[in-house]
Amino acid sequence: MSLRFEFAFPAAQMTEAMSELPIRDDLRGRSAYGAPQIDVPVLLNVNENPYAPSGAVVEAIAQAVRRAAQGVNRYPDRDCVGLRSALARYLANREGASFAAGAIWPANGSNEVMLQLMQAFGGPGRKALGFSPTYSMYPDYCRDTFTQYVTVDRTHDFEVTAEIALAAIENEQPDIILLASPNNPTGTALSLDVIETVCSNFSGMVIVDEAYAEFRRTGTPSALTLLDTFPRLVVTRTMSKAFAFAGGRVGYLVASPAVVDAVQLVRLPYHVSAITQAAAVAALEHAEELLAGVDRLRDERDQLFTWLQGRGHEVAVSDANFILFGRFADPDWVWQGLLDRGVLIRQTGPTGWLRVSIGTASEMMAFRKALEEVVPV
Ligand SMILES: *Cc1c(COP(=O)(O)O)cnc(C)c1O
Repeated sequence: MSLRFEFAFPAAQMTEAMSELPIRDDLRGRSAYGAPQIDVPVLLNVNENPYAPSGAVVEAIAQAVRRAAQGVNRYPDRDCVGLRSALARYLANREGASFAAGAIWPANGSNEVMLQLMQAFGGPGRKALGFSPTYSMYPDYCRDTFTQYVTVDRTHDFEVTAEIALAAIENEQPDIILLASPNNPTGTALSLDVIETVCSNFSGMVIVDEAYAEFRRTGTPSALTLLDTFPRLVVTRTMSKAFAFAGGRVGYLVASPAVVDAVQLVRLPYHVSAITQAAAVAALEHAEELLAGVDRLRDERDQLFTWLQGRGHEVAVSDANFILFGRFADPDWVWQGLLDRGVLIRQTGPTGWLRVSIGTASEMMAFRKALEEVVPV
């Protein structure tokens, strides 16, 4: 079993030399974000779309990059105008939602978008509120921007109700509220009622992280539809998951143009490279094809849900491309047993649960077979 990438150093090895550096006290002893990148046949650990682009799409991206390379001696378009227009067209086609390019802001993954939002609206003396269990990067964005991060628990079935949200606003007095919908690692989508209630009863910024929006079940609405009503609402999206462009590193936010102006105060100049912009625009021109796997993945997810329930596991209802299931007295052992059979999934809170990304039909068969061996019923 080898690491997927040659330079994927185990974080622990770095620590001793690093600790001798005069790094910030609050970083001392920490390890870097690290879902293990292990080279096994079935990779179901980081919620990627398993379908690689077709030869035609690869060619279109390569041609766009070639054109961009011809001008790579110059800085790229700092405002990413072409990319923002392409994203606006995508949202219009896919969601029937009409946004001006000025309401959209891209960065290198929605992780960078989120960091920029925390830089602009968080900071020393400010507090962000999340609802746990939720995305493991939220505390890191907060740490990196010296924003205090607090969490309030979801219900036992991982919902955020209006009551929970209102009590949390009252008790915690946050400046920013982070709502992942569908949530990672649970897959839970929020109802628009809850988001509306939060926005109506809170004077700070509300960030709805819709990284998995394209996987939501039919009839589950997007918070994009609320943006006209609430000027302090921000919806973040990514091309990493449904869009099958994780390696391209493009995420974006949709919000009032004033929010986009605010974020521009903190972004680094020329943050999205000419190469990335060109590749992303070319990919967006082939959106339909790149997203063709999404319906299949949603079907696989729903089938897996039923299958896991049928085996007697606890299974979280999912609107995303992964399923959280459990509970296991020894989840490490189950994770390792699957890995020994060539199937890599993710150990991510809450205690006793495991998360499996949805892959192709044959990958899901391999997962089921491995789980049957490791955990017979
Ligand atoms: C994967 C993920 C993201 C973003 O990933 P990027 O690749 O940086 O766009 C954001 N939020 C959640 C909840 C995620 O799971």
